[in-house]
Amino acid sequence: MNKVYKALLEQLQARKQELIALESHISPDKIQNLDLGHGDDMDIAESIVEQEMSITMKLRSSQELMLIDEAIEKIHKGRYGICESCERVIENKRLKARPFVKYCIECQEEMERNNEESASSGPTPQFGKLE
Ligand SMILES: [Zn+2]
Repeated sequence: MNKVYKALLEQLQARKQELIALESHISPDKIQNLDLGHGDDMDIAESIVEQEMSITMKLRSSQELMLIDEAIEKIHKGRYGICESCERVIENKRLKARPFVKYCIECQEEMERNNEESASSGPTPQFGKLE
């Protein structure tokens, strides 16, 4: 196996363990058993914020976990590091920065550009202009 991919595989597996540990830390009963019968409004508001954060974190980590699994599978199948859109080889530099990236930089930029166009609601605010 390619040395770079081997190192990335180890990195991905380590990250996967980390996420699994994180997910088990965010237990389902912590999310569901919200007791609204006690405490004042501040406590309730805090619990709700905490609950939403847990859900967001869980969602994000399970999405990441999915991407990691896909990447690990691709490494084993010898399909890793190939853009899913144009099938060109993704630079090692890019893979090291984002090990579970699916597309080459050109395709990624192209997609982001399309997303911006479809989601745009007027011009992007410009920073650095004080007038
Ligand atoms: Zn591509």
